[in-house]
Amino acid sequence: MRCEQCNRKIRGRAYTSITGRKLCDRCGTRLQGRTAGIVAGGGIAGGRSTGGWYARVRRAMGRPPRS
Ligand SMILES: [Zn+2]
Repeated sequence: MRCEQCNRKIRGRAYTSITGRKLCDRCGTRLQGRTAGIVAGGGIAGGRSTGGWYARVRRAMGRPPRS
């Protein structure tokens, strides 16, 4: 069995992606990391709202944020 991502022989356990692709452990882990990155991307949007919160706090303290 070969990895559909890097075309290397899969040694040991094969990783099956959500789309059903057979990947080696390394590519599978990388794919999982990318999925986690998408989740983190949602976190950036959350961070932006946190930044807005921070700006509001600064404004409330009488120090408007530089922009
Ligand atoms: Zn691979």
